[in-house]
Amino acid sequence: EKNPFELAKPILKKLVDHGYQAFFVGGCVRDMLLDRPIGDVDIATSAQPHEVQELFEKVIPVGIKHGTVIVRHQHESYEVTTFRLDGEYSDSRHPDDVEFIQTIDQDLKRRDFTINALAMDLHGHVIDRFAGKKDLERRLIRTVGNGNERFSEDPLRIIRALRFASQLGFTIEQETLSNMIRQRPQINGLAVERITTEVTKLFSGAFVNKGLDYLKSTEIYKQLPVMIEYPYMIKNLPNPIKPLQSFGEVIALFHFTEPDVKVDRWAKSWKCSNKIKQEAEQLANALFHYQQFGLDRWLVYRLNTSIFPGFIRLGENLFARFLVTLDDLQQMTEDLAIHSIRELDIDGNDLIQLFPELKKGPWIKNYLSRLEKAVVNGKLKNNKTELKEWIKWNPPETN
Ligand code: ATP
Ligand code: MG
Repeated sequence: EKNPFELAKPILKKLVDHGYQAFFVGGCVRDMLLDRPIGDVDIATSAQPHEVQELFEKVIPVGIKHGTVIVRHQHESYEVTTFRLDGEYSDSRHPDDVEFIQTIDQDLKRRDFTINALAMDLHGHVIDRFAGKKDLERRLIRTVGNGNERFSEDPLRIIRALRFASQLGFTIEQETLSNMIRQRPQINGLAVERITTEVTKLFSGAFVNKGLDYLKSTEIYKQLPVMIEYPYMIKNLPNPIKPLQSFGEVIALFHFTEPDVKVDRWAKSWKCSNKIKQEAEQLANALFHYQQFGLDRWLVYRLNTSIFPGFIRLGENLFARFLVTLDDLQQMTEDLAIHSIRELDIDGNDLIQLFPELKKGPWIKNYLSRLEKAVVNGKLKNNKTELKEWIKWNPPETN
């Protein structure tokens, strides 16, 4: 297993060989210095986007206007971004225009926090213009330059500070914290999708309770969708919590502690995808079912295997002595008589034949659901002859 920097070095080398400057930059350098697992390796360069495009074979122009292209190398993707200054964020969404510049120093200056304003060259030399290494040692989150200006330039940075506290367990430097509080009303103007991404990361951080403590003490939660209207809700969450992994899990956690606010409402206000919304709904249903009936076959049947881990994370957060394991859920799934209604050994046509005097209608679907549940729960065998026999004695109610 090669380390991520080794894998990406040929890209840096090619840029440098062609006379451009190029560095690893941002989170990857920070995480390397912290000895944390490295996520994406990002690259900053003096080469213009079209120059990068010409140099590499597989390039995806994801954000040419903002100077970013993706270079594909050995089945990995790397964001390669031209050194730039950010323009004004008039809509608090995207910088209006960016200006490409010649030095890494200026590029580092536009970055949010000192610990993220680090670059590293091909030889492993770290460029640290804002004492980011010292802040890494002191475990401090501090803005690059004047916090007031930096937070009003892009108020998302206020939420990013919380999520870095949650991921790294760092303290937010005093002045940075005061400036966050001062600028917090500006969060209202942000594109919600940007907030959702950061808040998801906040809830998944290894030090999530540190992030949540800041979220509460700064009252920044009062600027967030849904929480604005139900300010007591966040205080009713279990405390401490264990990290979650998706926004669907976050919604399920809140909805379980405050059922009056529906999943749909969360999903709309936070502009979630349908996938996240469905995940939240399934998880919430499973949690309520578990609370009422415990772990039974019907619960396992209704839950997508892909969200078993999420169900366990939430169960551990919400129920005392929750001992369900992934193995348990997988074993129960294997033992199920059917895995979907399509596997039922009887269908709508069979029912119509059995009750020729009844008109086609919703009773068919309802009756099949009843059979499905009985078969899943082991009250009935999934065998056509036996099902038909049972059906004779239990005809559908029609009125
Ligand atoms: P992660 O490992 O979670 O991806 P990261 O530090 O890489 O953390 P990203 O959101 O991927 O965070 O951003 C990459 C880098 O871009 C940051 O390290 C920072 O230097 C810069 N950056 C990102 N968003 C902003 C912003 N809103 N304002 C200023 N700089 C930013
Ligand atoms: Mg990143």
